[in-house]
Amino acid sequence: MRAQVLEAFNTPYVFKDVKKPDAPTGQDLLVQVQAASYCHTDAVFASGAMWQDLPRVGSHEFAGVIVAMGDDVSKELGLSVGAPVGVPGRAFHPCGSCYECRVNDGDPHGYGVYCTKAGNLGLSRDGGFQEFCIVDSRQVAPIPQNMTAVDTAPLMCAGLTIWNALQAARVTLKEGGGDGLTVAISGAGGGLGHLGVQFAVKLGCRVVAIDASDGALELLRQVVDSLGPLSHKVSIVDARTQTPEDVRIETCGKPENDLPGEKGVDALLVLPEAQQALTFGMKLIKDHGICVTVSFPKEGFLIQPRDLVFRHIEMKGVLVGRNHQLREMLNFAAKKDVRAKTRTYKLEDLNQLVTDYHNGVNGKLVVDMTK
Ligand SMILES: [Zn+2]
Ligand SMILES: [Zn+2]
Repeated sequence: MRAQVLEAFNTPYVFKDVKKPDAPTGQDLLVQVQAASYCHTDAVFASGAMWQDLPRVGSHEFAGVIVAMGDDVSKELGLSVGAPVGVPGRAFHPCGSCYECRVNDGDPHGYGVYCTKAGNLGLSRDGGFQEFCIVDSRQVAPIPQNMTAVDTAPLMCAGLTIWNALQAARVTLKEGGGDGLTVAISGAGGGLGHLGVQFAVKLGCRVVAIDASDGALELLRQVVDSLGPLSHKVSIVDARTQTPEDVRIETCGKPENDLPGEKGVDALLVLPEAQQALTFGMKLIKDHGICVTVSFPKEGFLIQPRDLVFRHIEMKGVLVGRNHQLREMLNFAAKKDVRAKTRTYKLEDLNQLVTDYHNGVNGKLVVDMTK
């Protein structure tokens, strides 16, 4: 079968013929991949900055059709041969006995997404840039009827992560669950951000969508236009030209003189690996608000403890999400028409995709195996 293999760090993928996986055993599935999305982590991995070994077939967010199932796949998962599924990279074969696997918030018994002993498709095991892939049945989510594989793949990491970040920002993840809340998204024109804007608005939030490049702001404008009657719920902010003080007043109103902490956004999501994104965003948050970071720059973030102490701002971080969240997110996206802006490529053109990614092409870049 055809696959794109990373054989050495900081080199292009090698397009080659590899052995098709054997029939699945136990709780595993064999999935014929139809679409596989490129994530920032793929770029970090290919640069040699992570700890897993080579050679490796990348992509930890993909979608396809089940072509064979192991004998122990649980009926409760509702999976069958021929069914389309979305596949996130985490968590392949968790240990089943650690704290994360035992206390898993309602995911399948003994299945912990945050188990540190689990494998990760596309990183510690081969992922979606190939025709067929062995996956753990407890990882996947059935694709709702009105979604394609290309629609689904970018939601498996980017979509789930931003969905979980909104929950961490105290948005209740059901229709209208964000009513009355204003969420600022820093990096709103990026891969995660433009999905976050759509999810937040469709959950009922008002959104302050911040970015700092022409391309990202252009993508953001397209996303906001596509929201139709809901587009008035988004304020687009160019952080290069607007000050946080002005943005806070324009989007949340002018506070009384002696009560500056009462007007501001309820939550901030930080997506870029840039100190400016955090510093700018922190100035938008009202007292008792929350800051959720998804990014984790190597050099760290500088936090002002006085924001936490005197303004009672809470800091949190999130990493992807649980399997039940994956299913909820995907069903919500299908029902409310949340879609990534995608550009698609043939599998043999993966290195062109990578070049475009590093040149700052906007939206999610996806290998479409049917091309
Ligand atoms: Zn990812
Ligand atoms: Zn475990």
